[in-house]
Amino acid sequence: MADITIDELANFCKRKGFVYPSGELYGGLAGFWDFGPMGSELKNNIKSSWWKFHVHCRDDVVGIDGSIVTSPKVWEASGHVANFVDVAVVCKKCGSKFKIDEHELGKVRCEKCKGELESKGKFNPMFTTQVGPIEDDSVTSYLRPETAQLIFADFKLVQENARLKLPFGIAQVGKAFRNEIAPRNFVFRSREFEQMEIEYFIDPSKNKECPFEIEDMEILIYSSKMQDENSEPMRMSIEKALEEKIIQLPWHAYWLSSGLKWFFELGANPENFRIRQHVKDEKSHYATDTWDIEYKFPFGWKELQGIADRGIFDLTQHEKFSKSDLKIMDDVAGKKLLPMVVAEPSLGVERAFLVFMLDAYSVGEKGNVVLKLNPKLAPIKVAVFPLVKKDEKLVEQAREICRNLREEWNVVYDESGSVGRRYARNDEVGTPFCITVDGDSGKKKDVTIRNRDDGEQRRVKIKDLKDVLRGLISGEVLFSSLQ
Ligand code: ATP
Repeated sequence: MADITIDELANFCKRKGFVYPSGELYGGLAGFWDFGPMGSELKNNIKSSWWKFHVHCRDDVVGIDGSIVTSPKVWEASGHVANFVDVAVVCKKCGSKFKIDEHELGKVRCEKCKGELESKGKFNPMFTTQVGPIEDDSVTSYLRPETAQLIFADFKLVQENARLKLPFGIAQVGKAFRNEIAPRNFVFRSREFEQMEIEYFIDPSKNKECPFEIEDMEILIYSSKMQDENSEPMRMSIEKALEEKIIQLPWHAYWLSSGLKWFFELGANPENFRIRQHVKDEKSHYATDTWDIEYKFPFGWKELQGIADRGIFDLTQHEKFSKSDLKIMDDVAGKKLLPMVVAEPSLGVERAFLVFMLDAYSVGEKGNVVLKLNPKLAPIKVAVFPLVKKDEKLVEQAREICRNLREEWNVVYDESGSVGRRYARNDEVGTPFCITVDGDSGKKKDVTIRNRDDGEQRRVKIKDLKDVLRGLISGEVLFSSLQ
């Protein structure tokens, strides 16, 4: 990661069409953001690769797409109406406002100047909305503050429709809304954001038996004991942490390693990651153990993804409030049972977006920005140029190549300015490969392909272009291995 502040990243994102303050024309609205041409592509690529990794590539996970506004009873059952509270605090010394969790009151100090904090009261961060046009008949509901509850509310139908057998997971990607007391740090803490979540259900008597292999990786581990003793996080393998009972549940070790693997395979820098266990007061009352994947943001180590076990809390609540039977038949146990959620990996799309942007941002020798995004995530996969725009033959050939590649990828055609300028423009937004059609291309039926990260160039036959690009974009072929 280059040395960049979050405000510098926000400026860069605005200049290059990644993210804009929403409604800026009218002064904006704190905590709301619009994703521009580059940002919307990157965000879609993040979500689709997460879905591919966690849903399509597995036998045991299916997805849903729940609604944003649902019956308010869902939020009564989940406990959000009564217990979802943030405490607003103001620093007595510097006047900064922010939110803390209830258990932190009286313990934590100002994150800016370490001053003493004064409580300004408790707030429920759910946005309310009126459903129905006529006041008397309308119902007060909420914009969902998390995607998870829709998974619980639809649990029985999904299990039946998809004929799921324990253990299994239900995933969802979508918008969530929280009326955050102090939205800050660019898109890190927004009022409208997206989550990628899985509820993973098992037979409660099998919470010590995880059938999946834990990825062999070393990572900084910050257990609750280390935090209580004020000692430093330790680098060790996740498997060792499990053996030494630092991580209590094999299922957590597995989901932590799989969450990290997704990030690392997409080029995030492992040095900027750690896993941190919640200390005693931080945990929800139903959780045996909770871990966060944290990332070293320019404003410090912060939560990227949470992994909690929710036990049978949610399904029990929904059984109670809906007066329905949510138990399912488990063939292995030979009886009907209420599954427990052994892990709930929950990741914010915007926070993942920041991680990939920060780890990709680099500054070249001439002060030019090169966004070294993994090709799978890059908003534009290929840029195609005619060497000179006045030569009609080159223009036609470049346009033809562009049309052909667009059948598979997001490809741009660019003919303005010098080739060097066009390379630089594409480097800045992370385009991994640029193709130039020149005077030799007509005769030799080949083009130049240039690699973003080292500026290396190769000639490739036009007929082989798609195959070559498929290999390069998937990462199965290294640019340096091209002849
Ligand atoms: P925090 O303590 O940072 O407010 P949280 O513990 O309340 O987060 P969860 O309820 O566990 O967050 O939500 C799961 C994930 O959703 C978080 O790990 C984060 O990636 C994302 N998330 C939560 N709140 C926000 C927000 N206001 N803006 C952007 N992403 C968020």
